Amino acid sequence: METADTIWQNGEFVPWDEATTHVLSHGLHYGTGVFEGIRCYETERGPAVFRHREHLDRLQKSAELYYFQLPYSTEQLREATHELIRRNELGSCYIRPLAYRGYGNLGLYATDAPIDVIVAAFPWGVYLGEEGQRHGIRARVSSWRTISGDSLIPHAKAAGQYLNSVLAKTEATNAGYDEAILLDQYGRVSEGSGENVFVVRDGTICTPPHTAAILDGITRNSVVQIARDLGYTVEERDIARAELYLADEVFLTGTAAELVPVREVDDHPLGEPGEITRVIQAKLDDALHGRAEEYLEWLDFVERITAAA
Ligand code: PMP
Repeated sequence: METADTIWQNGEFVPWDEATTHVLSHGLHYGTGVFEGIRCYETERGPAVFRHREHLDRLQKSAELYYFQLPYSTEQLREATHELIRRNELGSCYIRPLAYRGYGNLGLYATDAPIDVIVAAFPWGVYLGEEGQRHGIRARVSSWRTISGDSLIPHAKAAGQYLNSVLAKTEATNAGYDEAILLDQYGRVSEGSGENVFVVRDGTICTPPHTAAILDGITRNSVVQIARDLGYTVEERDIARAELYLADEVFLTGTAAELVPVREVDDHPLGEPGEITRVIQAKLDDALHGRAEEYLEWLDFVERITAAA
């Protein structure tokens, strides 16, 4: 991975290589952490973090869902992130805030163990590759079902839950595919291992609803708004597996991947990215890079100069 100079750790800026943790930290053993994946883009007005507050709000909610409280407010984390971007002299970058239960108690009821918080920012290209973004990726429906709300909390972006994504992604990659699409416990389409899913049929854009054990993706939300603003009909509804094969177009959305067309599912060809995918992808790209007036409010601009100390 590409690195940067410094990482924000529990209120301080520490050199990248020194941002370490105790091996008996609770989160390492039980996955008791919550995190975010955020992107900052270079714009004409300098670096801008896409939907920063929404991501930090989701971080706070993920923590709350697992009964822990972050020792920093959204505003404190937002300011720390701005300063981190400045100190690392970054433009476009990926931002990874993580809050995990730290060292002090290895029992499962460990409310007295501290909550450690870090924010890292570093360069990271689009997750499924530029080629994938242009010509589409090959996806495979996973043999692993997505975690159910009966056992964990799909709405939370929690560290331990990602073992499910790791299994699905590993299976798909080992079989020669680019990404996995997981079904929920009832066999309905849920989401990718790190993206939400959209299916276009007869001009209507469909995406699984919250009841399909999805993460409430911030890119998903942005794409739904963009699509509606462009005059398309968007339906949140259950999607059958076969609809992935019968679709006119399929695409995935996520912060790391942005909007990625799918050109093949389970060896059923869908072809080169379709018209609707292209139009929405271009508009999202404009929004991310500050070229869309109507979505400027989604950008949290990073002032280049630190406020006087
Ligand atoms: N689903 C899962 C499981 C994810 O990990 C992600 C990435 N955070 C998404 C969906 C997309 O969410 P977002 O658009 O907020 O990045």
